[in-house]
Amino acid sequence: MKYIFITGGVISSLGKGLTAASLGTLLEARGLRVVLQKFDPYLNVDPGTMNPFQHGEVYVLDDGAETDLDLGHYERFTNCVLTRHNNLTSGQVYESVILKERRGDYLGKTVQVIPHVTDVIKGRIREISDESKYDVVITEIGGTTGDIEGLPFLEAIRQFILEVGAQNVLNVHVTLVPYIKAAHELKTKPTQQSVAKLREIGLQPQVLICRTERMLDLDLRQKLSMFCSVAEKAVIEERDVAHTIYEVPLTLHAEGLDQLVCDLLGLKTQQPELAEWKNFVKRVISPTKRVTIAVIGKYFDVRDAYKSIYESLTHAAASEDCGIDLELIDAESLQDGVNGPLKDVSGILIPGGFGLRGVEGKIKAARCAREHKIPYLGLCLGMQVATIEFARNACGIKDANSTEFDKNGKEPVISLLEEQRGVKNMGASMRLGTWPTKIAKGTVAEKIYGSAEVMERHRHRYEFNMKYRDQMNEKGFVISGTSPDGTLAELIELRDHPYFVGCQYHPEFQSKPNKPHPLFKGFIQACLNYQSRATRAPSDQESPPRVPEQELVLQR
Ligand code: GLN
Repeated sequence: MKYIFITGGVISSLGKGLTAASLGTLLEARGLRVVLQKFDPYLNVDPGTMNPFQHGEVYVLDDGAETDLDLGHYERFTNCVLTRHNNLTSGQVYESVILKERRGDYLGKTVQVIPHVTDVIKGRIREISDESKYDVVITEIGGTTGDIEGLPFLEAIRQFILEVGAQNVLNVHVTLVPYIKAAHELKTKPTQQSVAKLREIGLQPQVLICRTERMLDLDLRQKLSMFCSVAEKAVIEERDVAHTIYEVPLTLHAEGLDQLVCDLLGLKTQQPELAEWKNFVKRVISPTKRVTIAVIGKYFDVRDAYKSIYESLTHAAASEDCGIDLELIDAESLQDGVNGPLKDVSGILIPGGFGLRGVEGKIKAARCAREHKIPYLGLCLGMQVATIEFARNACGIKDANSTEFDKNGKEPVISLLEEQRGVKNMGASMRLGTWPTKIAKGTVAEKIYGSAEVMERHRHRYEFNMKYRDQMNEKGFVISGTSPDGTLAELIELRDHPYFVGCQYHPEFQSKPNKPHPLFKGFIQACLNYQSRATRAPSDQESPPRVPEQELVLQR
């Protein structure tokens, strides 16, 4: 088994996760079996309780683990399917050490960072090092070298190298080489100091991956090589990509990273098979069509809050040779009317979310999609608001709401899951992870999935209230997927609409570059159809968009 540790220096947000994932892509393309793992030095047990403004998206795994969004990159860029063992936080480490201490497992010893905390960390690397399954384990350490919280992880790696032998381990340091305008120069000092910080704790990187805006010339590579004790050919440039993150594996390959890593680890492999990946990238960069899609959410100040959704749209669009222009619309800005911002879009997507803020705006957007037959994809909360909208405006259930927003509401069309009633703790207590959905015959969903049962990942506390099923069905609201026992609504659609789909789960966690998720693919196809209908002469249109008077409110 070979081990690659990826640390980061100088600043955060260098795209270490993407770099780790891209290395995974390249090694897999060489025929190696790869698994990735992320260590997060913060003290939260998992990011599940963190606000998206703090941490970006929470990425959910099959087993229900709520993890760092880098695991999303890992799953999208490689074939590995991850579990809770692939994301370790300091919170988990200390939780387990303290639990053991309370049980008396340390037999009266003083419990310390070394060896007890570092043992837990090393144990986690070993836990996933299954030689029957993998050739290489790539472990990314979150945070930046020099952070106090990161020290136990770096110390654990130092010990681990001693235990498994230096010939089996590679330390890769991702760093920043900034361009200073006033000097017209790229600067190596931050990298030198970051490597010095690593050395202080006994770690010497063998590979430097330099994030930079400009080309690294030979002089600069030599300088980095000398000051950081890294071979010149192991100074790898990772310049900002021009179009899409999916270019990263290709640029790293062009820099010789995968060959270098295999040479350093003594791995005999073939040249990487990258044709399919290149094709995908080509389709992302130069599609022949374009379509405008509105995403109605509330976490747009953080670029990564809806990461998997944007990626899923990209995958699906590429498969239709189409590019996407995203309109990111703050749900609160729609409270008073939707027709300004939604006038020219060919599709409306409402992502998941929590809490009351912006909900009424989302309900208005769902109504607009329904009435104007604009393709709609509602994910989790997006399905719930579509349900509330339909109940209120198509079925006349005026007070319809979710008990999340109106605790004692008279018409709880969305209500707390039975199993959630006694739940007090917020962490890891939702309905989480992969559950089966039985697809109803004769529905759009059946056509899209082409299968009678699908497995999808969940993260929610509320659900459709089956009491309203028949009443809403009469008006055209179809429950097209349920839990196998038929008690939980998992998928909904509208009978008289070309593509109005809502799911209680999160399909965005299962889309891959060359394997777009069917619900996203169906959505993009419907958006393209809508667009071509909308650009036809008005007399051709099946349903000319109608704009109710009171909705004509100027936005912004
Ligand atoms: N807040 C809703 C629930 O808990 C939706 C959750 C989500 O969108 N992930 O059911």
